[in-house]
Amino acid sequence: FDGMTIVELAKRTGESISALQDILVNVGETVDSEFDPLGIDIAELIAMEIGVNVKRLHSNVGAELLPRAPVVTVMGHVDHGKTSLLDALRQTSLAAKEAGGITQHIGAFVVRMPSGASITFLDTPGHAAFSAMRARGAAVTDIVVLVVAADDGVMPQTLEAMSHAKAANVPIVVAINKCDKPAANPERVKLQLASEGLLLEEMGGDVQVVQVSATQRIGLNDLEEALLLQSELMELKARIDGPAQAYVVEARIDKGRGPFATAIVKAGTLICGQHVVVGAEWGRIRAIRDMVGKLTEKARPAMPVEIEGLRGLPMAGDDVIVVESEERARMLSAGRKKKLEKDRLQKVGEERMEIANPSE
Ligand code: GDP
Ligand code: MG
Repeated sequence: FDGMTIVELAKRTGESISALQDILVNVGETVDSEFDPLGIDIAELIAMEIGVNVKRLHSNVGAELLPRAPVVTVMGHVDHGKTSLLDALRQTSLAAKEAGGITQHIGAFVVRMPSGASITFLDTPGHAAFSAMRARGAAVTDIVVLVVAADDGVMPQTLEAMSHAKAANVPIVVAINKCDKPAANPERVKLQLASEGLLLEEMGGDVQVVQVSATQRIGLNDLEEALLLQSELMELKARIDGPAQAYVVEARIDKGRGPFATAIVKAGTLICGQHVVVGAEWGRIRAIRDMVGKLTEKARPAMPVEIEGLRGLPMAGDDVIVVESEERARMLSAGRKKKLEKDRLQKVGEERMEIANPSE
């Protein structure tokens, strides 16, 4: 929708030009001519008013794309070692090294390999977070680490994780965990996974399998190498310059600091002082902290940061977009809140209908 004129917008949405102009007046905007291009924020507002879903397509045309680190989520059956594996990987992370072993839990951390390449891990394992993000259209994760306990083998949530990854079109790297246990049987796990349709590398497919022990810290390096290899195959690239496009992975309220969010930039550069809309909330970025809590001016792609200065609490999976002024930020946030409320009421209405007509 960016750069579209009101005439084009009318054509695309089937609304009359005068109806769109009325909406423009209502949101306090004027355009001199119906042939003037609308900004993306205005286009989004109009679209919300007329009930059209817009997806911001951030144009990378002409922008220089540089390789970026993969963003990885750990999934698997309960008790198979997701948290333990993240803990072990976090110990190999930059944060652990820089802070002398003390790490913050900001919702994500970065592991830097000796080659200089790095990997960003989302710190919240589990399917709920993954699904919540996907439901909001947040394509944050590039690779899923599927953790399977070597003694327990494939279990219901293993399959669930596989189908989540498949639905999101995100490649899997298998980590067979607890290989230190006497009852470990990695070969059996591989056969089970293969019979569930996972095309393992050693069987001619392209899914890598690594044997690890989270608690004994065995195979962590192999896992990291496998993730890097996978990411090289995917040729992940991002635009570095220009306005940031980011996603919230976690948000909290702190008594002293107010609402703050951990976000991962997917493209562009987020800069301190910018006005942002985060989901339906807005704010002006007062501080950006890296994963050791150090203040920084900017956040680049694949870099997890904490941002302060939001006026309300966003949700995991919300998008972070940069707008040009506080007025814009307020306006867009108000528009999005209105749309959320409309959607909520509509849903409640539909549920009532279902109760009234249980056969449908
Ligand atoms: P989650 O539910 O997937 O997050 O699993 P946890 O990380 O909480 O681990 C569940 C249990 O398995 C805990 O008691 C861990 O100590 C244990 N565990 C995790 N990884 C390993 C491992 O590599 N080897 C052994 N022997 N135990 C492990
Ligand atoms: Mg856990």
